[in-house]
Amino acid sequence: MSLRLICTLMIGLVAYLGGAAAHAEWVTRVTDGIMGTRITVELWSDDDANAQAAIEALLAEMRHIDDSMSTYKPTSEVSLVNAKAADAPVPISKELFDLLVTAKDYSRLTDGAFDITYASVGYLYDFRKRVRPSEAQIDKALPAINYEHVLLDPEHQTVRFSQKGVRIDLGGIAKGYAVDRGIDVLKSFGITRAYVSAGGDSRIIGDRFGKPWIVGIRDPRKGPGEVLLRIPLVNAAISTSGDYERFFDENGVRYHHIIDPHTGHSASKVRSATVIGPYATRTDGLSKTAFVLGPEKALEIYNRIDDVDALIVKLDGTVVYSKGMRHAAPAAENAAAPGVAPQPPPDAMVPTPAATPAASAAPQGTPAGTAAGAPAGGPTGAPVPATTPRP
Ligand code: ADP
Ligand code: MG
Repeated sequence: MSLRLICTLMIGLVAYLGGAAAHAEWVTRVTDGIMGTRITVELWSDDDANAQAAIEALLAEMRHIDDSMSTYKPTSEVSLVNAKAADAPVPISKELFDLLVTAKDYSRLTDGAFDITYASVGYLYDFRKRVRPSEAQIDKALPAINYEHVLLDPEHQTVRFSQKGVRIDLGGIAKGYAVDRGIDVLKSFGITRAYVSAGGDSRIIGDRFGKPWIVGIRDPRKGPGEVLLRIPLVNAAISTSGDYERFFDENGVRYHHIIDPHTGHSASKVRSATVIGPYATRTDGLSKTAFVLGPEKALEIYNRIDDVDALIVKLDGTVVYSKGMRHAAPAAENAAAPGVAPQPPPDAMVPTPAATPAASAAPQGTPAGTAAGAPAGGPTGAPVPATTPRP
């Protein structure tokens, strides 16, 4: 073979490899303002046009869920239900019907801690404006909280409320549902490695080329970037509920967005609860339980459910774990020390989003936007992307 031919072949090979490398990469998109929260998507793709189309389709799906399920939108299906279902059965979409069925399942599973009719009292709070109902207002509205008031007719696909005053709000499950739908959309585009989060609800498919994704759990009494511990995950969903998400303090009492369906007051038995499971709808539906029932009862429930694990930050700041996580507990607790991850993969130093800006914190070679892509303000508070992928 002539030298010139070898040179030509080598130049061709380099050009080919360079081209391939440019097209196979982690693609990150961060979008604010859907469902009132931050949507983060990170995926591996060898076809940028397909990746962008997949992300657009995911965002369209999430906007659709927001349009249908938000109680802030007067024209949403849920707003329509709230306006009319006490008077007559309201025909609803199959999607909403199925999610209402799921929501009632979680009410039963959590001994009533999860209850979308919390909104019968919950609508009287406005945490941004520091507004809360009086005791008299709560007493009056409280009988309307009970998931059994939501009557679902599968034959006619309708929902009816058994009494006046009942309101529903899917804020405790719709984000998890949207994340699961988002993952479905990505899969339909052939994506096999991805992280999707909506606020405190996240789900991961695939790994990071032999390594897990690392998800940080925020320290409930520190800033958004302060990670309490880091959890390596593959093919899993994770949701964190925290009393620091939407709240105001008044006379030493914290009024926040998780409501105890039995009292109509903020549910304050823990500081945060994280649930890990197969689907984000499930982990979202279960992450409020500990606030309402307290750590012991909640752990009993989590331990009864085969496919979930949980960790709870108690009021005194100590952390308790469900059965499946206990073996990991000491390592996880060690991780409370800054910079120490629980048995991390060798190069899994996690960029902590708010505390350490992307550019300086991201490991060398990490795609731009990776650390910023972490849900900085979200309760999980955490960056997923831990490592630079080396396929
Ligand atoms: P995020 O909205 O960040 O995902 P959570 O998963 O902790 O936070 O959900 C909190 C939301 O759940 C509240 O804003 C409210 O819409 C809803 N919610 C509050 N209390 C209850 C409850 N007891 N059962 C079901 N949903 C609730
Ligand atoms: Mg949630």
